[in-house]
Amino acid sequence: MTNNIYFIANWKMYGSLSSINTLNKLINLSKLKKYKNAIIIYFPPFTLIQNFINKFKTTKISVGGQNCHVVEDYGSFTGSVSPKMLKDLGCKYVILGHSENRIEGESDEDINKKIRSALNKNLKVVFCIGETLKEKRKKITFSVLNRQINKGLKGIKNLNNIIIAYEPVWSIGTGLIPKDKELELNVIKIKKILSKKTKLRLPILYGGSVNNKNISNLKNITGINGFLVGSASQSSKKFIDIIKKTIN
Ligand code: PEP
Repeated sequence: MTNNIYFIANWKMYGSLSSINTLNKLINLSKLKKYKNAIIIYFPPFTLIQNFINKFKTTKISVGGQNCHVVEDYGSFTGSVSPKMLKDLGCKYVILGHSENRIEGESDEDINKKIRSALNKNLKVVFCIGETLKEKRKKITFSVLNRQINKGLKGIKNLNNIIIAYEPVWSIGTGLIPKDKELELNVIKIKKILSKKTKLRLPILYGGSVNNKNISNLKNITGINGFLVGSASQSSKKFIDIIKKTIN
């Protein structure tokens, strides 16, 4: 891999104040010249965002929110967090379209509204797409990706701040990863769909059971610009290992 490589740590609904103390080694690593092309972004739960931002203040490591509301600023939406609130905290990114939220009923249209609101607030969007096991078995992966991309990005002219995370749903948290060829073909499909929308070459990340063992193989997959790591990112040791093995 050349150029910038993304390493995204999605902590989901895990972590506590004490887990922040485990990040010192990662901070040291991020300052080494060898890792200057590593773009490291943490997505802690909302409750820890401020602490992460303070921790990473003098580093190049960024912080983002794991989701946001469709309304940009403020509103009577109990339990929700707006793009403005994330931005005001110091977040630079937000994850949208994660399958764990799609499963809860988030539609392509909801995701499109959220992406627009987030971009309006100058947040960069990690836009998650991917087929379920049922869809893979029915061999409709291409049309699923086509629908998710076209509906999710509908009407958005400037895709400069969009990062695509291809995450087969059947791979998230299961320990299963696509075969090399299948993954490469799906990345090609994604590029083809995107090429009809933009001349930009958006970063495409892979997510789904990435760990410090399978990374040695995954890093050789053509067309991928980095990784979205869930469970394994909650261990700083494993996350550091993933970065080191990718950039060696
Ligand atoms: C994720 O949270 O998007 C993810 C890919 O999780 P995991 O690495 O645990 O499969």
